[in-house]
Amino acid sequence: MECDYLVVGAGFFGCVIAERIANDLNAKVLVIDKRPHIGGNCYSEFDNTTGIEFHKYGTHIFHTSSKKAWDYIIKFTEFNGYHHQVLTTYKNKVYQMPINLETINAFYNLNMKPFEAKMFLKKEIDKESIENPRNFEEAAISSIGRPLYEAFIKSYTIRQWQKDPKELPVNIFSRLPVRFDYMEDYFKNARWQGIPLNGYTNLFESLLGSPNIKVELNCDFFAKRKRFYVKEKIVYSGAIDRFFDYKLGKLEWRSIVLDKKIIDVDDYQGTSVMNYADLDVKFTRIHEPRHLHSERQYSKKNTILFYETSTSDSNDPYYPINTDLNQGLIREYKSLAKQQDNVIFGGRLGDYAYYDMDKTILAALKSYEEKIKKF
Ligand code: UDP
Repeated sequence: MECDYLVVGAGFFGCVIAERIANDLNAKVLVIDKRPHIGGNCYSEFDNTTGIEFHKYGTHIFHTSSKKAWDYIIKFTEFNGYHHQVLTTYKNKVYQMPINLETINAFYNLNMKPFEAKMFLKKEIDKESIENPRNFEEAAISSIGRPLYEAFIKSYTIRQWQKDPKELPVNIFSRLPVRFDYMEDYFKNARWQGIPLNGYTNLFESLLGSPNIKVELNCDFFAKRKRFYVKEKIVYSGAIDRFFDYKLGKLEWRSIVLDKKIIDVDDYQGTSVMNYADLDVKFTRIHEPRHLHSERQYSKKNTILFYETSTSDSNDPYYPINTDLNQGLIREYKSLAKQQDNVIFGGRLGDYAYYDMDKTILAALKSYEEKIKKF
């Protein structure tokens, strides 16, 4: 198979670069993916029974404050006005997540003002005297105190990562904001957010719409490696350790399993994502995708739910596990990658990074500008 450029992986990283090569450079691109669909982990499809569109690999909310990412993506889709809100169930009671003033007041059964809640939590935090947090647990306790950490964070994190939170890095906790106001918007700092009006798969079809782009699905790069004749460069967004035949060792990933259930009520939980904080609940959260598109007239006969559990033995890697060991390994793999002159690595799997979608788009645009267009 002959092409100017070969893109391995049809997620955001690969598709954005393919789009730029096809439309900006006017060159031919072959995009391959070993899965039977485009879109990577953002892929969405319609459920036959309920007619509800769902995100096969977990709920994805597009959110960004980068004008560059936003201006780019809106050339390919409109967004609906969805704003993300998450709730968590702890001991059979529902609380706001991320932790905000309402969570704090409801948990302590108090009615504090923001400044009072700050002073109150400071006393909790000072009990532990953690100066420089070295891990996830210390970061959490030094931000919200032990009681809130143990209720809402500790067991959720143990079930999600299947690791002691003391072994996890500070930066995972940094993803979770803590608020002393009543703001419920999960991505309150994002200038723009929403779900593609016609779904993620439709957005990916637009990205790949150029006649310069050819897509081959169910196509494993490693099984067919010798059959590709690439004149210019390979853009590789698969797992970086796989590219090098795991010769330095395997990078660890956490993955999730989503168990689908259809029930005959019009609305099961009143929100798109409900987390479960108790250690004895098997799943970490329930997704109800009908809430992602309130602009659509879905049937009220039934609804579709996905029960999320965490696993390490799936073929779909989701979350890099940033322990010291994995960090050391990825540094070594990246130095091997630098020696591959005609291969551009990137994306969540290629960089072993916990990227949001907008960051992946920005990284793809940058790689295109610096590693392809310049030459
Ligand atoms: N987390 C938690 N309780 C929650 C939600 C999140 O303890 O109710 C922790 C958990 O360790 C998670 C991290 O915060 O991995 C980051 O959460 P985020 O919502 O960003 O995770 P994602 O949605 O990307 O899985």
